[in-house]
Amino acid sequence: MAKQQTLHCSFCGRNRDEVKILIAGQEGHICENCVEHAQEIIGQEMINQPDKSAAPSNYKLSVKKPMELKKFLDEYVIGQDDAKKVLAVAVYNHYKRMNQKVDNDVEIEKSNIVMVGETGTGKTLLAKTIARVLNVPFAIVDATVFTEAGYVGEDVESILSRLLQVCNYDVTAAEKGIVYIDEIDKIARKSDNPSITRDVSGEGVQQGLLKLLEGTDVLVPPQGGRKHPEQKLIKLNTSNILFICGGAFDGVDRLIGRRINTNAIGFNVNKDQQEYQRKNLLQFVNAQDLKAFGLIPELLGRLPVVTYLNPLDASTLRSILTQPRNALIKQYVKLFQIEGIELVIDNEVYDFMVTKAMEYKLGARGLRSICESILTDAMYELPSQKVKSFNLTIEYAQRKFNISKLSILKVA
Ligand code: ADP
Repeated sequence: MAKQQTLHCSFCGRNRDEVKILIAGQEGHICENCVEHAQEIIGQEMINQPDKSAAPSNYKLSVKKPMELKKFLDEYVIGQDDAKKVLAVAVYNHYKRMNQKVDNDVEIEKSNIVMVGETGTGKTLLAKTIARVLNVPFAIVDATVFTEAGYVGEDVESILSRLLQVCNYDVTAAEKGIVYIDEIDKIARKSDNPSITRDVSGEGVQQGLLKLLEGTDVLVPPQGGRKHPEQKLIKLNTSNILFICGGAFDGVDRLIGRRINTNAIGFNVNKDQQEYQRKNLLQFVNAQDLKAFGLIPELLGRLPVVTYLNPLDASTLRSILTQPRNALIKQYVKLFQIEGIELVIDNEVYDFMVTKAMEYKLGARGLRSICESILTDAMYELPSQKVKSFNLTIEYAQRKFNISKLSILKVA
């Protein structure tokens, strides 16, 4: 009887003096412990049972014509014109297919894409930029983390978990998203001949990807990783998800060379052109070469668009420093500007940065560490000094670079 008169939590029964906060409702009370507990339960349930109408994200597909797409890519990615064009057309066709009426007897197939090119040439950047212009969810996954079902590693379905996570489990948005699968070349089987023994790391994963790439209902573990019995799964249809795969395919140029030689295609030209083509064999890459490299034909069948990226030469690196809309140098200028300092960089400094990036074989990714090694001291010291401008000269750049960890690396 006495208990009913003292205030207590209607959920756990704790008395007023046993809790810090007691919130009153119409007919009962709840304590802070129970509120926290309830919040945890809600969080878990929201993840496990996302509702198509719940948690709408800000993604709203905005399809553009191929030329407009390419123009947008040009703002962020330097060069790589062939890849941009191929990508723009494939993406445009992909979304055209998506809006196609079902009663049509000509069924347009999906245009999943493979991009072949050295690491750091802009494959991820291209995929990311195209997702941005289309305003669709975008996820990057690494093919090497997946293993065939039943082995240690992640199930291929967890590719889709990433996509769901980036759009806050908005299933409708995720079903129109873009997935970039990096290092697809690392799951190639070791030789062109199907092996009799099981190839856990490569072919099994390729097999696992087939259904996903083609379009099917997949039960996705919301948190990724491995499916386990207690986890509630989310159903996602992959028919309209565009898959873009990328890889360096080290050594594929030899396979291309061999094929071209035997087919004698493209060598029916003068000596200069022959020399040029020999050096730029990647431009001739096709599904046959990727098969010879170790991708299974079924997978290649689901990746009908093949394109390539050029290695970055000095002049491209130079442009990457300053030209893209969010170019590295523009970012540093902004950082100094916020501090009230005008950053003036001498022309020779750009050439120096590019030379070092080439010398150290760092590619475009290395440009950032080179800039940091040169500018960190200035960014450390200048905010405490009353300067209005800072002139980055070649002498300063050389001095700072030579005492940086980067230059020591080279000696080692
Ligand atoms: P990949 O996926 O081919 O290994 P990334 O797209 O991740 O290479 O490129 C790494 C970084 O290098 C990018 O974030 C970008 O800053 C820069 N980069 C590489 N290629 C280009 C390019 N063609 N244009 C502009 N920036 C580039």
